[in-house]
Amino acid sequence: SKDGGRGRWTVYDPRMDEERQSRNQMEIDLREAIARGEIEVVYQPVVDAKTFALVSVEALARWTRRGHGPVSPDVFIPIAETSGLIDQLGLCVLSQALRQLGHWPELKLSVNVSPGQFRDPAFVDHVAATFEEARIEPGRVVLEMTETYFIQSPERARLAMDRLRSLGLRIALDDFGAGFSSVGYLRQFGFDRMKIDRSLVQSLDRGHRAVEMLQATVALARSLGIPVTAEGVETEQQAVILRIAGCDQLQGYLFGRPQSPDEIAALMLRPMEL
Ligand code: C2E
Ligand code: CA
Ligand code: CA
Ligand code: CA
Repeated sequence: SKDGGRGRWTVYDPRMDEERQSRNQMEIDLREAIARGEIEVVYQPVVDAKTFALVSVEALARWTRRGHGPVSPDVFIPIAETSGLIDQLGLCVLSQALRQLGHWPELKLSVNVSPGQFRDPAFVDHVAATFEEARIEPGRVVLEMTETYFIQSPERARLAMDRLRSLGLRIALDDFGAGFSSVGYLRQFGFDRMKIDRSLVQSLDRGHRAVEMLQATVALARSLGIPVTAEGVETEQQAVILRIAGCDQLQGYLFGRPQSPDEIAALMLRPMEL
């Protein structure tokens, strides 16, 4: 049979139909969940690298699929991206997180943005309206983006980025070290922050070569005046290396998993103990 009209001929395989069907069903369920307001947001602590004090949280989407249980964002975000649901899902996460931030005057917030949202010409207007509605100062919020769209459409990406920054928002380059990202992008697009990917942080356990490479990367970012957050920090040893390398913020299971607003509120009352 012809493979989805993409011009590739494949041997008929009934499992392909099954896979497609279950994906279609998941898309239908996701669409309903978004419409019903069933997408939840959890918050992962981000701490100051020197004091380990809670300074910020990253908003992360959660979906408990009716009749199935929790679905990983690594599964439902790509489905939202290919089915046109990401604009709606992204704004729903943003507005929930901003409302929550209103209760946490001492914290900052990071929210993830997919390339698909960035591509939507109305995106910046929607973001501006969401901030006005929540009455949140945009300077408290960082939008996290991976390099994909910046590689695909650099001119348009830069335009959208400039408009977002003129609202007062900051933009972070997410997942640095997981893809093709280079420090060159930081300079070229004027990112406000770099987030070092978990894979790079975990590589520190493999020895001094990895440590040296990371130190050089962080030093380069800092020489451009760009602060660096390390994510996926799981051990105290990693935290120490990253702080000495010059990261000003740390995030990872060592400091806290993504958690409910109530749990974050409790963390604010009780300073981080390790
Ligand atoms: P991300 O933006 O890189 O978010 C960090 C992911 O790493 C989260 O996974 C978090 O739970 C996990 N993580 C944090 N610390 C540690 C650690 O110490 N060890 C390990 N093993 N993992 C850690 P999560 O919540 O499953 O999200 C996965 C990805 O899904 C996110 O990666 C992001 O790309 C995407 N995502 C989640 N929520 C949203 C959203 O609202 N919008 C968009 N566009 N993407 C989202
Ligand atoms: Ca992120
Ligand atoms: Ca990341
Ligand atoms: Ca990611």
